[in-house]
Amino acid sequence: AIALLINNGGAMAQSAKKQPDNVDVKVKTLLAKMTLEEKIGQLNQYTGDNDATGPVSKNNNKLEQIKQGKVGSMLNVRGAKDTRQIQEAAMQSRLKIPLLFGQDVIHGYRVTFPVPLAEAASWDLGAIELSARIAAKEAAASGLHWTFAPMVDIARDPRWGRVMEGAGEDPYLGSLIAKARVHGFQGKSLGDLDAIMACAKHFAAYGAAIAGRDYNSVDMSDRLLWEVYLPPFKAAVDAGAATFMNSFNDLNGIPATGNSYLQRDILKGKWGFTGFVVSDWGSIGEMIAHGYVKDSYDAANAAITAGSDMDMESRAYIGNLQQLVKDGKVSVKLIDDAVSRILRKKFELGLFDDPYRFSNEEREKSVLNSAENKQAAKEVAEKSIVLLKNDKQLLPLSKNVKSIAVIGPLAKSKKDMKGFWSIDWAGADENDLVSLYDGIQHKLGNNTKLLYARGCAIQDSSRAGFDEAVKAAKDADVVIMAIGEAGDMSGEAKSRSNIHIPGVQEELVKAIQATGKPVVVLVMGGRPLIFNSTADNVPAILYTWWLGSEAGNAIADVLFGDYNPAGKLPISFPRSEGQIPVFYAQKSTGRPSVNDKDIIYKSAYLDLPNSPRFAFGYGLSYTTFKYSDLKLSKTKLKNTETLTATFTLTNTGKYAGEEVAQLYLHDVVASAVRPVKELKDFKKVMLKPGESVTISFVIGKDKLSFYNSKMVWTTEPGKFELMIGSASDDVRLKSDFELVD
Ligand code: BGC
Repeated sequence: AIALLINNGGAMAQSAKKQPDNVDVKVKTLLAKMTLEEKIGQLNQYTGDNDATGPVSKNNNKLEQIKQGKVGSMLNVRGAKDTRQIQEAAMQSRLKIPLLFGQDVIHGYRVTFPVPLAEAASWDLGAIELSARIAAKEAAASGLHWTFAPMVDIARDPRWGRVMEGAGEDPYLGSLIAKARVHGFQGKSLGDLDAIMACAKHFAAYGAAIAGRDYNSVDMSDRLLWEVYLPPFKAAVDAGAATFMNSFNDLNGIPATGNSYLQRDILKGKWGFTGFVVSDWGSIGEMIAHGYVKDSYDAANAAITAGSDMDMESRAYIGNLQQLVKDGKVSVKLIDDAVSRILRKKFELGLFDDPYRFSNEEREKSVLNSAENKQAAKEVAEKSIVLLKNDKQLLPLSKNVKSIAVIGPLAKSKKDMKGFWSIDWAGADENDLVSLYDGIQHKLGNNTKLLYARGCAIQDSSRAGFDEAVKAAKDADVVIMAIGEAGDMSGEAKSRSNIHIPGVQEELVKAIQATGKPVVVLVMGGRPLIFNSTADNVPAILYTWWLGSEAGNAIADVLFGDYNPAGKLPISFPRSEGQIPVFYAQKSTGRPSVNDKDIIYKSAYLDLPNSPRFAFGYGLSYTTFKYSDLKLSKTKLKNTETLTATFTLTNTGKYAGEEVAQLYLHDVVASAVRPVKELKDFKKVMLKPGESVTISFVIGKDKLSFYNSKMVWTTEPGKFELMIGSASDDVRLKSDFELVD
């Protein structure tokens, strides 16, 4: 029967799609047949990768438990062959309820895309959605049903290693990106064979860990939570995210995993989320270490009561829920709700029709690592690159240059290009990754002589390689340097107190610059890094993050002008760790915030400007853009009306290029103080040299509302400042309007 079902996979997905209303009935019917033990089994998730004997070994008895219906989901099971083998075990259970296979498919699966923060720098929602779409297609062909992504945590602290996994500091941009990623992973319908469930994580406020230390406590006002940290989660719900993951942190003293306010009141209550919540890895059990519950029994009680539906690897549910029901502490109704939410998704995915979802090794082979997927990864990588400086128009470089010295510890690196959370076991090996050096070589062929010197290591303090690097620079016409962090220095549990470019890399830059040769510096990393001396002295700098499989090809396209960079920073880059958190949507204080030495009582540092080194929304192009002719359709509007701000954007340079025009608003006087600027809209447009376009932003109640002094989402009459520009610190057009009752 299974073979038949497999052959018919496509047709069945169609029929699953046509009958969404039946799902409720199917869930109820199945639930009525289940024993309490089987129900609890559905809430239990194990990993497949934590022992040496293979994905699921007899040692830990998982396969047996699967056959007994004691497991609802597995994570980290590798590929079509293994998922199929383990699903076969589930098909031996009494009710044959298929397992869900989950995995952290964060930025690509077999083909690695740029790290999520890099993709956010594209401000290109179509590209971001495409990246998730391709990751889903590849992962689904490998037998996966579910990714633990997108991470939609706002992050304003680059010491926190997981900034690389999100969309940066801004709730508006973050919400749009959350939506694009959910749509990308889930496709048109969960019933389609190339869709996987998305999981918005980490609910909530995980990105605000005190001092940027991963897993740390979060203490946050309701205002900050609702204004900044929750909107991307709400956007994920609205986009139809099938699942949520809670988080390791406590929020104002209550661990998120045991937090009813977050999971029941907000997520499942106010927002009407119908999917299920998975705990973070072991987070149910970790409530003991938090000092919130005394043992695993109480942990299970707290988590299920608070709305955590599935237990990832704490074994607290499988170990305690039966007893909790017996003791009258947890009602069967509560368990039924959690089980129903999970079963619903299994039905929606079409797993009861085909538990293998047509996944087999042939399909896997044909879908993974296709030329089309690699091409998409290159295009998304190009869009993610940010041009930070191009003072002497050194870039783009001529393809006719006779010799280039490629220098730096990252110049020939392949593995660092993948960044954290890439999937090593999906068949990828280092040969699939394109280093910067390779990318330049592919582009220029034998016409240009390439010299190479590593110069120094990423982290140690040896300058022994400097001489060789200086010699290479002297022998070349142009120098391209690649410096930054190693690929595993940003990511989970990769918090750093010092986010300067490590080791002696910036000294190497100085030594190379002293040769007088033209130098282009590429800075690579998963987070905003600090590199003041380079930023001060080097005229041409590109921020190239971790760009994935096609990194070198994408960078070469940008270096030699086949792609005009258009990325904009989705997060502020500090001048010093002492400024953190530094973000653009600051509020005015009662005192001046200038660092004028004649003003004593100022809200400023004595030793640094308040401004970041590179601001949110900043990024240059090889061409230049002029903003002009701002017109507002009205200067007074009622709360029920909209106004349109129209302006002209002109490409005034000599290259075709894209600009991300950004709209910021400021509610000047309000019952709760508003940030001096909030991003409210943007448009990314391509213009040929000399070409102009008229751009309009429509402003209505949704863009003017805020949480008032009583935390009610509303508008208040009064003056608004409207700012349009090329970056949060580069406003080109300004006007005011008034909201009247
Ligand atoms: C991370 C999650 C991830 C999970 C499973 C946890 O440590 O916080 O983001 O999805 O592991 O790998």
